[in-house]
Amino acid sequence: MSPLAAIGLGANLPSPAGAPEQTILAAIGDLAAVGKVVARSSLYRTEPVDFTDQPAFVNAAVTFETALAPEALLDVLLGVERRYGRERGSDIPKGPRALDLDLLLMDDLVLSSPRLTLPHPSLAERRFVLAPLAEIARGLRHPVLNKTVAELLAELPAEGPNRIESVRKIYSPQGL
Ligand code: ADP
Ligand code: MG
Repeated sequence: MSPLAAIGLGANLPSPAGAPEQTILAAIGDLAAVGKVVARSSLYRTEPVDFTDQPAFVNAAVTFETALAPEALLDVLLGVERRYGRERGSDIPKGPRALDLDLLLMDDLVLSSPRLTLPHPSLAERRFVLAPLAEIARGLRHPVLNKTVAELLAELPAEGPNRIESVRKIYSPQGL
């Protein structure tokens, strides 16, 4: 069986595909051309963290079966980001972007190269990543922390930057 990857998607600026919701759906469609989208989450409206003076984000997650090696999958993700107008280098770190695609997990791979860290370093700290992922893959295990996605989500503090209301479901997959 091909490896299973978990991918997080986020957008808070318009792109050539349209509003952030449209961009996320178009990006998921593009991924389907290079592998098998096993499950996709609802779309969520989420409050920005770190750099808070920017529009709300739309976030989602997919699980994705692919024969691509991790670095090759990263190249695909960066290519899709570019297709929707994301200018790397010119944007503010953690700032507004037309599309952000993060490789969150790939089976139980643990690696750290200059271009790619797996699991994604912020996975365990962000409700806007864990909530969509938990909807479709509660039981996936973080190979370093040895906890499932559902456990990591349950451990986030209910208040502060990750407070529960910071992440709100806006469209279920059936409604897309
Ligand atoms: P962030 O997603 O943290 O806001 P960026 O999207 O600007 O930051 O990511 C910048 C770089 O992070 C990418 O060019 C990529 O090489 C690197 N990177 C390292 N690990 C990962 C990963 N697991 N998923 C996506 N990008 C990663
Ligand atoms: Mg990114």
